[in-house]
Amino acid sequence: MPYSPVLVIGGGLAGMYAAIAAEEAGAPATILCKCRTGGSGNSVVAMSVHRFAPDAPGLREDYRRRFLASGAGEQDADTAAFFVDNAAAYMEKLRAYGFPLEYRCLEEDGREYPYLACCRPKQGRILAKAVRAWLEEKTSVRLEDGAAAMDIVKRDGRAVGVLAERDGELLFYPAGAVILACGGAGNVYAATSNTSDVTGDGYAMAVRAGLPLRGMEFVQFYPYRIYSPGRADIFPDIFEHGAVFRNEKGERFMDDPRWPKKELENRDVVARAMYWQKEVRLDLSGCDMAYLERECPNIAAMYRKDPSRPLLLRPVAHFFMGGVPLRKDCSTDVRGLYVCGEAAGGLHGANRLAGSALSETVVFGRVAGENAARGEKAPELWPEAELAELLRGYPDPGEDDLRPLKQRLRDVMWQNVSVIRETAGMETALREIGEMEKELSGLRPARFRDWQELRSLLFTAGSITRAALARKESLGAHCRTDE
Ligand SMILES: Cc1cc2nc3c(=O)[nH]c(=O)nc-3n(C[C@H](O)[C@H](O)[C@H](O)COP(=O)(O)OP(=O)(O)OC[C@H]3O[C@@H](n4cnc5c(N)ncnc54)[C@H](O)[C@@H]3O)c2cc1C
Repeated sequence: MPYSPVLVIGGGLAGMYAAIAAEEAGAPATILCKCRTGGSGNSVVAMSVHRFAPDAPGLREDYRRRFLASGAGEQDADTAAFFVDNAAAYMEKLRAYGFPLEYRCLEEDGREYPYLACCRPKQGRILAKAVRAWLEEKTSVRLEDGAAAMDIVKRDGRAVGVLAERDGELLFYPAGAVILACGGAGNVYAATSNTSDVTGDGYAMAVRAGLPLRGMEFVQFYPYRIYSPGRADIFPDIFEHGAVFRNEKGERFMDDPRWPKKELENRDVVARAMYWQKEVRLDLSGCDMAYLERECPNIAAMYRKDPSRPLLLRPVAHFFMGGVPLRKDCSTDVRGLYVCGEAAGGLHGANRLAGSALSETVVFGRVAGENAARGEKAPELWPEAELAELLRGYPDPGEDDLRPLKQRLRDVMWQNVSVIRETAGMETALREIGEMEKELSGLRPARFRDWQELRSLLFTAGSITRAALARKESLGAHCRTDE
């Protein structure tokens, strides 16, 4: 394939912002996306809420306190400080593009400072679509939709390109610099809010390229997802307008002196409380209907259709705080390889503050793109020996359907390494992951893409479980019953 000075893996918001920034900094960029750039990944199903520290000293310090408290000392201090101090300026730069974001302000000393931006209605797909349109209309970024990165190819310790699969064919994309922006791994779990393409490919590729991961035990479980009669995320604001949770006995189980904020306690607290209930229902009987119709039209429609039918919820795997260690310049220990977005880890520490993942894509997507564009570039080359070595590890095609194995993994992880964890369950999971890896190595996949995803999921599941076993105490989103 043609040489790209900057090659971005992933067509979510982080990847798209990185490509725009690279081109603005003078380096033509290509995006490899295994689905559709701007139409895939969690950026599309996000609620579009960007929270960031306002550019006013008092308000910024307040945000910093909350951001650091949520990370529970597990954040990379340098990166966290850079994010808190600069996110407002990066959001201001983004404003200049005219993407469909509304900015809201807080007041200090008689002046107003933006602290939140979101689409109206709060749907990430509106923003992702607009950024894709910008790429197509205003840039010459090459979009390689349908190309799934398999491995980062290195020579003499630096990234020189990416081996990818498109339409069943393996292709080598030579590159001057590579940016890993292919998101998290929610599909490790049977219950997740993530889109089906989010399978931990970035974590697995990074480790095969020689990088470490950090904080993999910290997986955020989101308590606000309706799974029946349809699927929908609820925005926590709804609880300020009369909605409550009830269990199958009709009890408002969050009405407990331990949880003064009730349904609005931290996500992990709510997720754990839900985990112990047989059934969790969203009771909208006391909800302000005008608010519901205006802010959550999909939920209002679900409720109106049959108010007697319960809206059922359960916690779901939502966000990975861990990943490839993020530095404030987005570089990694592999020369020419950068990381941004949910593929990166360490900014949020043990838990993430609501609304900070999208502002992270804005800040570090741009930083990664600029630095990849300005940094030293690998020349165009054909790394014959390195490609042959990678290909040796790939299976021959065949007829095997890998879906049952994938489902088994997702169930094992949900049962043993999800919201609540204990040693015996995690050891069972590790054993099962080992058996499944062995089984996978003997299969001949009918679809190569399924093999790639399952290998990434198995790898990520192993990383989470080992990190969770090693972390003896409960911290942030990691909760053990046997600490
Ligand atoms: C339901 C939901 C609601 C959310 N709401 C919010 C919110 O309101 N505010 C907030 O701050 N955060 C929110 N988040 C989190 C936030 O959406 C994500 O963290 C963020 O969008 C991640 O962006 P990204 O670009 O790193 O990854 P993604 O948007 O997940 O994109 C990953 C991209 O990489 C591609 N890809 C994956 N593997 C490969 C491969 N091997 N080769 C090529 N391409 C590949 C995918 O197809 C996709 O295009 C939400 C998350 C979910 C699931």
